[in-house]
Amino acid sequence: MDCETIRPKLMALLDGELGDDPRRACESHLERCAVCAQTLAEFQAIRDAPPAPSETFDVWEAVQAQIEPEMLTQALLAEMRLMREEMRSLSAEVSELRLALKQAPPSPARSTALDLPYVRKSTRSPFHLV
Ligand SMILES: [Zn+2]
Repeated sequence: MDCETIRPKLMALLDGELGDDPRRACESHLERCAVCAQTLAEFQAIRDAPPAPSETFDVWEAVQAQIEPEMLTQALLAEMRLMREEMRSLSAEVSELRLALKQAPPSPARSTALDLPYVRKSTRSPFHLV
C-alpha cells in the first residue's frame, strides 16, 4: 500500500472503522513511512483537541444572535406596558380636566374674550384638544 492509498483511510483507521486486512496494511505502511505516521498523528491531534477559542466564540455569538431578539422583544414589551400605564393616567387626567371645566363657573374674562370674533380666530383655548 502506498501513501496515496493510505491517506484517505487514516481517519477511518483512527475511528477503528477499517477491517482487519486494510488496518494491518495501513499499520505496516505507517511503520515504514514517517510522513503518513506524522499525518496520522496530526489527524489524531485535530480529532482529540478541544474546540479552539475562536470556534467557541463563534458558537457563543450564534447563541447570542438568537437570544438578543428575544431580549429586545422583552424590553419593547416592558416599554409598551409603561406607555400604556402612562396613557391610562393621562386619560384619567383628561377626564378630570373635562369634569373641572364643566363644573367651573364661566370666567367672565374668558367668556368675554371668546365672544369677540377676532379673538376667537387668533386665540386657541388651552382645552381645544379636550
Ligand atoms: Zn506513506
